[in-house]
Amino acid sequence: MKTAIQPDEMGFYGEFGGAFVPELLRPNIEELTRAFRTAQDDKSFQADYLSLLKDYVGRPTPLYYSSKLSDTHGCAIYLKREDLNHTGAHKINNTIGQILLAKSMGKQTIVAETGAGQHGVATATTCALMDMECIVFMGEVDMARQAPNVQRMEFLGAKVIPAKSGSRTLKDATNEAIRFWINHPDAYYLIGSVVGPHPYPEMVAYFQSIISEEIQSQLKEKTGSSSPTKVIACVGGGSNAAGAFYHFYENEDVELIAVEAAGKGLNSGESAATSILGTPGVLHGSMTLLMQDAYGQVTEPYSISAGLDYPGIGPLHAHSIQTGRTKSISVSDEQALSAAKNLSRNEGILPALESAHALAALEQIELSPSDIVVVNLSGRGDKDLSTYLQHSSK
Ligand SMILES: *Cc1c(COP(=O)(O)O)cnc(C)c1O
Repeated sequence: MKTAIQPDEMGFYGEFGGAFVPELLRPNIEELTRAFRTAQDDKSFQADYLSLLKDYVGRPTPLYYSSKLSDTHGCAIYLKREDLNHTGAHKINNTIGQILLAKSMGKQTIVAETGAGQHGVATATTCALMDMECIVFMGEVDMARQAPNVQRMEFLGAKVIPAKSGSRTLKDATNEAIRFWINHPDAYYLIGSVVGPHPYPEMVAYFQSIISEEIQSQLKEKTGSSSPTKVIACVGGGSNAAGAFYHFYENEDVELIAVEAAGKGLNSGESAATSILGTPGVLHGSMTLLMQDAYGQVTEPYSISAGLDYPGIGPLHAHSIQTGRTKSISVSDEQALSAAKNLSRNEGILPALESAHALAALEQIELSPSDIVVVNLSGRGDKDLSTYLQHSSK
């Protein structure tokens, strides 16, 4: 069945998506698509996936009713606690799914790219668990900025290779990972968000859909109804948002709100608000909205949050925002920092800077007493503590 979250045969969501890859990669993509379709119908694959999510990752994650946020905003506000997953964010839901897929395909080497290092750590973790060789490309500049995550990956047994071309950040690491894949078609390329060539966006959304599946049953238990009125999630590439929205796309009564990083302000030239400032183009193997200059050169995005400064957005979100199904709003560095401080002080929960953007959206949207709002708390904020401390003295 084709749904709002399901692309067509060629991987298109409206005008966005597809698989713009070199001819040499066609067979890899076709092999992957076949394996994914098989896994979706394979009871033993599903059982392995769910069992690891339960016993290794620690799912289901709680759906926590925040009485303080609810009081402040005059409606019911729940936090979906993805921060409580093993490794501290939602990313592991996807790496567990894809590593099982790689195993089923007989792969022994995993290649990935990482920006801030969070996806690299989740990949290195699951590779250790599954006895896979793990190679992670990371921009040289990012390696210096995110040294603790480099150390984590290496201690977990991964090989981290610096990308030294271009701006030496995420997009350069991505190019190198793709080049590696072309030269090593036996490796499995593990993408960390709902981006990249088809079938990755569909597949990553599928592995993250456990988030909204749990929200449905947990809300039902708490309120008698399985649907909230609003779901809010931050968007870098858009995987935690895709997972939190997944089972609600078909229900038009549920408002879906994607929160992007406005950085220092939408018009400051330093932001990552792709759905507002981006224009259609091909990035990372798919047609999507991206930040580019008049010559089609990808421009470097900015956000205080390393996980949100991606120059594109998953094609499914580009489509869903363009058709009006998903509403996109943007939140500045300042607003996110203040939301993080409030949640820490009021609830004793230290959110990731990315997740703090979703929380800050509560200040920007209209809420009425009958609203039941779920905010997806994508990750924990230990990694951001030094940033919080730097800014809280001001
Ligand atoms: C990586 C990351 C994000 C952004 O990635 P999405 O694919 O947009 O979900 C958001 N929150 C946290 C905690 C992250 O680590």
